[in-house]
Amino acid sequence: MKKFLMLAALACTVILGACQTAVPPNNYVIQNQNVPLNHLCEKYHVAWMWDNISEIVILNFKNTEARLLVGSDVVMAGGQQIVLSRPVEMMGSQIVVPSDFERRVLEPSFQKSNSAGITEERKFTTVLIDAGHGGHDTGAIARNGMHEKDIVLDVAKRLGEKLEQRGIKIFYTRKNDTFVSLEDRTEFVSRHADADLFVSVHANSARVRGPYGIEVYSLRPLDYESLHESKREANQDLMFSKIPMAPGSRDVENIVSDMLYSHKQRDSFYLARKIAQNTAYMARTKNRGAHEARFFVLRNTLIPAVLVEIGFMSNPKEEQLLETTNHRQQIAEGIAKSILDYARIK
Ligand SMILES: [Zn+2]
Repeated sequence: MKKFLMLAALACTVILGACQTAVPPNNYVIQNQNVPLNHLCEKYHVAWMWDNISEIVILNFKNTEARLLVGSDVVMAGGQQIVLSRPVEMMGSQIVVPSDFERRVLEPSFQKSNSAGITEERKFTTVLIDAGHGGHDTGAIARNGMHEKDIVLDVAKRLGEKLEQRGIKIFYTRKNDTFVSLEDRTEFVSRHADADLFVSVHANSARVRGPYGIEVYSLRPLDYESLHESKREANQDLMFSKIPMAPGSRDVENIVSDMLYSHKQRDSFYLARKIAQNTAYMARTKNRGAHEARFFVLRNTLIPAVLVEIGFMSNPKEEQLLETTNHRQQIAEGIAKSILDYARIK
């Protein structure tokens, strides 16, 4: 996004202002309850920046920002995605926003700026849980014959139950011992476009017996090729067809996708670190930390996503622990606690 903005800034004129575009004051409500953006910005004393090539508008609050696009009804405010009742439009020489923009974007962002970020704009509601492997794909096999696919399915269900108890909606990529391809798993994520988080559960295995503990992965920043991988682009199209976004040009979709990507990167790494800490603590095992990788399910999903390796099946002690329901429950509770903290659900 930064790189894009820099290029855009070089290529075009960027008008920096604090709502000083000349607008007749009697023009407040133009049509269909569209409101000129500069009037609202004036009311809230918000500085904004308009890039007339990319058609992105950035509103700068004290400690957060909102990005909107002309032609799109999706706004990214403080890292959250908000879908407005109508797209942002150009009316003559000015930008107009739908009437719910004030209540849903300006007021919360303004409050957030004045209360050190305590207010959340969008409620966290849905988690997608992915138990790794399944069916003929057993995953790792322990010396005692235990299959990774069975352990992770059990932990995934325990995690789902724990979150459901706190009012979170859960969808599973698989709920029984069936094979689901990686492509289908990521497509499943795009079909649930309003989900807040994707959590994939796996168990580790090493050639040697020594390593043990929890490690959690988030997506390593993607290069140009991976950003345009065909599965990722197909999932992007699918996801955009599911969100109530006004049909826009490919450029608009790419910019929204860029915004989603920045949001995903920032939140996923933060959450990965939290999960590693809390889960290792709850399950009394080693915190092997948060890492970045380009696993298929991480790079081909557009929402925040983490992959949790819940322990080493190759370590004799951890292999025994992973067999017990008590240990699996502790792991599920550690992951759940981290997600609830992240979602700010007390
Ligand atoms: Zn696995």
